[in-house]
Amino acid sequence: MSKQQAYGHKGSHVLTQDTMQSNDDSEDPTAWLRETDIVSYDFPYTDGLIVDSFHEWYKGEASLPFTESWNWCVLNYEGKWMNHINQVNERWSSCWEEAAGLSLLSRKTNSSHMTENGTSLTFLTLPVYTRSKGDIFAFLGCAMSTEQYEKGGREIAEVLARHFRTCFYRRFEHIFVSDLADVHLNAEKESNRHSLLFQIVQRMHDNIDVDAVLIEVIESISAMYPGARLVLFISQDHRSAHPQVKPLPLRWESNDASARAFKDGKVAIQASNEDSKLIEIGLPLSGKQGVYGVFHMVMYKQSFLDVDLRFLSMVADTAGTAFENAKLYERSNQLIRELRMSNELTQRLNQSLRLSDIFQFAFEELLEMFEADYCCILHLNEEKGGLETVACNHHALMNEIIEIGQGLGGKVYASGESVILSDYMEHPETASRLMDATDSQSLIATPLSVGGEVRGAIMLSHREPHYFSYDNYRLLQAMAGHIGLAVGNARLHAEVRRLANRDSLTGLYARHYLDEEIGIRQGTDFCGSLIVVDIDQFKMVNDTYGHQKGDKILRQVSDIVKTSIRKGDIAARWGGEELALYLPQLGVHQTAIVAERIRLRVQGETEPHVTVSCGIAEWSWIDDRVSVESLFYRADMALYEAKNNGRNRIVIDRNMESRVENP
Ligand code: GH3
Ligand code: MG
Ligand code: MG
Repeated sequence: MSKQQAYGHKGSHVLTQDTMQSNDDSEDPTAWLRETDIVSYDFPYTDGLIVDSFHEWYKGEASLPFTESWNWCVLNYEGKWMNHINQVNERWSSCWEEAAGLSLLSRKTNSSHMTENGTSLTFLTLPVYTRSKGDIFAFLGCAMSTEQYEKGGREIAEVLARHFRTCFYRRFEHIFVSDLADVHLNAEKESNRHSLLFQIVQRMHDNIDVDAVLIEVIESISAMYPGARLVLFISQDHRSAHPQVKPLPLRWESNDASARAFKDGKVAIQASNEDSKLIEIGLPLSGKQGVYGVFHMVMYKQSFLDVDLRFLSMVADTAGTAFENAKLYERSNQLIRELRMSNELTQRLNQSLRLSDIFQFAFEELLEMFEADYCCILHLNEEKGGLETVACNHHALMNEIIEIGQGLGGKVYASGESVILSDYMEHPETASRLMDATDSQSLIATPLSVGGEVRGAIMLSHREPHYFSYDNYRLLQAMAGHIGLAVGNARLHAEVRRLANRDSLTGLYARHYLDEEIGIRQGTDFCGSLIVVDIDQFKMVNDTYGHQKGDKILRQVSDIVKTSIRKGDIAARWGGEELALYLPQLGVHQTAIVAERIRLRVQGETEPHVTVSCGIAEWSWIDDRVSVESLFYRADMALYEAKNNGRNRIVIDRNMESRVENP
């Protein structure tokens, strides 16, 4: 029999706030309890309480010496036989019921007599009244000898029946009070839980940091169940330094509660394998977009209730949503950060069109952006037939040439595929000079594509293992795209510049380029010489063979000039059929040897046959006035003299000779 049944159905009006309060003022603070009663609605539920009270009453009070031989039974409010004491014959039950029926009508004790085995017996049915309204809620049945009945047995039975009522109410009050206390206790517990849940929810949603959400939920659950073991298994992307947060195992033991919870996204409970007193609970950490991890709890079975499951599920649900929100927040922050960084990088890259600047800027920005230990940019050097380290903060590797396909950088270049490595020491399949030299464990590397063609590789490394995230890897690829564009622009710009500085007919530098270069050299060098070469009687050549042939000869002479000078010398088309050569750091006399070689080669190699005249001038840092114009002027003067002296000859600027003669 439940306690609910024991004292009344739910709708019972017996205990109301009003009753409680109206009696608060009276002297006896428990008076309200005595006014609490059962009413007719409760009668169908009071059987158990009546029977229990009946036994208790009989054991304690009803068996006096005088009443020892009496037979007692109890009937319900409808006069239905419920229970009996002693050897009362079953077949009497209908007698009791009949008598109780009469009592019910008269609302009084009913007595009837019968003889059995020669003894005259009296049957009494004694109504038991409720204390407030006096409704009959039970009957006591008593069988005694008629003799005893006549000697005052009836009065004694009535007193005992009243005492039964007292026993009944004592029990009723006890159950009522203890039930009330239970309700109070549970309500308090439940309210504690609710306020805790509310606090947890609030704190979790206050946290927009993923790690803080995880710590919050772990600590809340741990505080609720101090004896429980709790671990959160979570996927690699959300690593945490918290000792109770661990990566998801690669393989679960079969039938693991956590595995089931993770797979199904639902709470899973099962008995522990280690101890039958323990249970294991798997609580999924899930949001709208998926399951991120699972809480694994081990605790004593006895300290776990159904309410706990509801509570834990609510906490886990809240945690999942808070975690997801924090993740989304983090993700959007990350995107904003990436956009800002890519904006900064492109802005920086756009500051220059020089390839070396681009590599340097990219290198500096990437190091900072990824907080990497090392950055290394490799760029294809066609002349040297390999990948050149064009930027690196491990200086020993600077300007090294790496064979294509060799090492991690070479592989990235050759395959055109990005790479992410978390523990180089454990997987050194491809040896890497950068990783070895810098003692690095983590790497992200991506090819550097320029206009759809792989032209190099970018590598970032860190000494810690598992340092770079997948997001880092993705971001590097995006950044490599920007760098590739900048490199492409710089290359295009260099090409345009190269074309602008060249003369299209002869392939020699243009005059303005020569002017600029000489100007620059005069600011840094000690000396240099200029040869002006002019084709003799070229007008006549044109007239004789036509302009096209004339152009061809001009190209032949230009080729002779180009192949007669050193690498650092600059040959330009000065204008018309005049060429000019600048030889840095060379004096007029050595320059004259070069000029003579050219003169002889032109005379011997041109077809149709032409000759050239040359004027040579030199500048030196000791000159009073150093300028490009005066250098040209003096060389031109010397050329003029060569022409006047019969052509096909070399003349050195007079001032120069005098200076050499009179230093
Ligand atoms: P000199 O020995 O005094 O230098 O005689 P020259 O005929 O070479 O000198 P002049 O300055 O009188 O004539 C230069 C000629 O060079 C005039 C012009 O037709 C020719 N010329 C200049 N540029 C070109 C060119 O690009 N192609 C051709 N075919 N001829 C050119
Ligand atoms: Mg000429
Ligand atoms: Mg000329």
